[in-house]
Amino acid sequence: MANPSILILAGDGIGPEVMAEVKKIIGWYDAKRGITFDVSEDLVGGCAYDKHGTPLHDDTMAKAQEVDAVLLGAVGGPQYDNLDFSVKPERGLLRLRKEMDLFSNLRPAQCFDALADFSSLKREVVAGLDIVIVRELTSGVYFGEPRGIFTEGNERVGINTQRYTESEIARVARSAFELARRRSNKVCSMEKANVMESGILWRQVVQEIHDKEYPDVELSHMYADAGAMQLCRWPKQFDVIVTDNLFGDLLSDAAAMLTGSLGMLPSASLGAPMANGRPKALYEPVHGSAPDIAGQGKANPIACILSFAMALRYSFDLGDEATRLEQAVEKVLADGVRTADLMGPEGGTPVSTSAMGNAVVAALNASL
Ligand code: NAD
Repeated sequence: MANPSILILAGDGIGPEVMAEVKKIIGWYDAKRGITFDVSEDLVGGCAYDKHGTPLHDDTMAKAQEVDAVLLGAVGGPQYDNLDFSVKPERGLLRLRKEMDLFSNLRPAQCFDALADFSSLKREVVAGLDIVIVRELTSGVYFGEPRGIFTEGNERVGINTQRYTESEIARVARSAFELARRRSNKVCSMEKANVMESGILWRQVVQEIHDKEYPDVELSHMYADAGAMQLCRWPKQFDVIVTDNLFGDLLSDAAAMLTGSLGMLPSASLGAPMANGRPKALYEPVHGSAPDIAGQGKANPIACILSFAMALRYSFDLGDEATRLEQAVEKVLADGVRTADLMGPEGGTPVSTSAMGNAVVAALNASL
């Protein structure tokens, strides 16, 4: 059988720096676990624009459609800020998401014990937190028509339209139920069925998919505003939260920050299953290209490393290996190894990006 394939698009700024640490880990799986990936690399974002005049070359797009998983670093930088909108680095990422039809965005909020004091919430509220928000990514109010700024009488009116088809809701609901089955088997669906028809349909369809296909999963419904409150009050009551594009944008940012630093947050964007049964998938850290620290060896590679752990779990059915990698990260943090972004008020000496990657590899070695 062919090896599983990965396309690495390291991108701009700190993207290549954090991706270099993931490559060490890919090498470790090959050498120590006999798990070999066919890895290819290409350009996305500003570096692709510099070479090809476009932030994503058609050939790169075609490769992304063929591989089992795409790993992306980050795109963007101040030198590209004045480019035409159509060739800005972010357009490369948006094209990938759109053409791969990545409708299900998984944003975990996981609080490592060693970092519980970084949260703005009390330690007991966040320590051990492990939830995932599944955000619908390709429809809803960010895409619905009509949209625009129009003139009505003698004033302007701004219009966006929240629109969801039954099939769009059903597919993201399935993605959440599948995810829950790999975790604690619990889904909470959030919308505003009290004031929005699209919310009423959302609730009905999620319930129908549950009753027909996933009756074994515990399902609850919550209004999104109450959900936001509960996330701050007692986030550990949740396992998987599924919600639409707009509410997911807000709730996932809020939930992620419960856990501390931007340098720690991974994400996965999944699409429909391919012929081999694996979903189309793109894994990337939540952070951007951090131009303020790029090239200085200061970036925290953990978000990118944890994104690879998500790939092991969701694209390659290697859940045990994903857990091994997450535990290695946990051990490194518990041992007090910190990049600059993780330094607390007590101070200390931060380690470099590369040293953090090496520490994770050492913890992987210790796990054998
Ligand atoms: P950013 O996430 O790049 O940086 C925000 C702050 O967090 C900075 O102070 C940065 O130094 C710090 N930071 C981010 N990642 C870190 C890491 N791994 N380790 C340590 N510190 C880290 O967001 P920004 O400054 O708003 O944007 C910078 C550029 O990145 C812009 O061009 C923006 O368009 C782009 N961007 C890209 C993505 C993406 O590729 N998915 C996401 C967000 C922003």
